[in-house]
Amino acid sequence: MTAVFQNPIFQDETKAREALEAVRWPEGPYCPHCGNSDPEKIAKIEGKKQSHRPGLYYCNECKGQFTVTVGTVFEKSKVPLTKWWMAAHLMNSGKNGVSAHEIHRTIGVTYKTAWFMMHRLREAMSEVASAPMGGTGGPVQADETYYGGTSKRAKGYVKGFGGKSSVVALVEPATGQARAFVMKGTSAHQVSEILFTNVVRKATTLVTDESRLYTKAGTEFADHQTVLHTAKKYVNEAGFTTNHVENFFGVLKRGMRGTYTHCDEKHLQRYVAEFQFRYNNRSGLGVSDGERTAKALKGIEGKRLTYRPTN
Ligand SMILES: [Zn+2]
Repeated sequence: MTAVFQNPIFQDETKAREALEAVRWPEGPYCPHCGNSDPEKIAKIEGKKQSHRPGLYYCNECKGQFTVTVGTVFEKSKVPLTKWWMAAHLMNSGKNGVSAHEIHRTIGVTYKTAWFMMHRLREAMSEVASAPMGGTGGPVQADETYYGGTSKRAKGYVKGFGGKSSVVALVEPATGQARAFVMKGTSAHQVSEILFTNVVRKATTLVTDESRLYTKAGTEFADHQTVLHTAKKYVNEAGFTTNHVENFFGVLKRGMRGTYTHCDEKHLQRYVAEFQFRYNNRSGLGVSDGERTAKALKGIEGKRLTYRPTN
């Protein structure tokens, strides 16, 4: 076992569960069945009886029982929480990601289990977009890249048409945040829809390369600046660049090539979400590996499940 796993949350199941409770319920447990969060009406079932699952709570409001994993992507899993912490830690250390093979070898689960764990953790790491970007007078950079292709040799990322899937990314330099979307094929219509849904058109300067995908949509923004990459100019005359979004793709492509050599196109959105999460919670923005891991696990709560009603 590596030295990094000295922390008790990687070794002691009770500690791992308590740490997960602290992440998921910072203000105390709440019932995933009825949403009750009144501490007077939630009791921890602490018995010496073998029949009791550890970490079991009883809700006096709906008479239901629950643990910290009920209603999460871990719910049906038999994998100990110590191993979930390890996998989440490995996926959130460094920016390039980790392979299922590495998880399998490092934490001692089968390759198949490692693969499923990673997909569940990617689900946890997929961010729910909140308010649109821009609108404050600053730039939002947009770019796209293509994934897949018809021949095996062409598999991977390519700049240019012909790929089956493409990824459009938006980065707002002022906040350092990115959003990335997988599209089937590529069309100006799809790109426009992504832009209009995710970026405030008023008081935002859209910055892109010279691609015609953005020409029409660009006219809807307060300003549209283009950078001519074909001319190897990375800053245009007005001083705008697409460096941030290119950096995002740089990390994505390196990680995908190095770590996920056999990424099936149907899973592309999940991989992209994983990279987006790490990018938006990167050390350059002051987020430590430990904080990133905890934040990833905070997302285990099913995205389709109800939110805590009070806050
Ligand atoms: Zn309840």
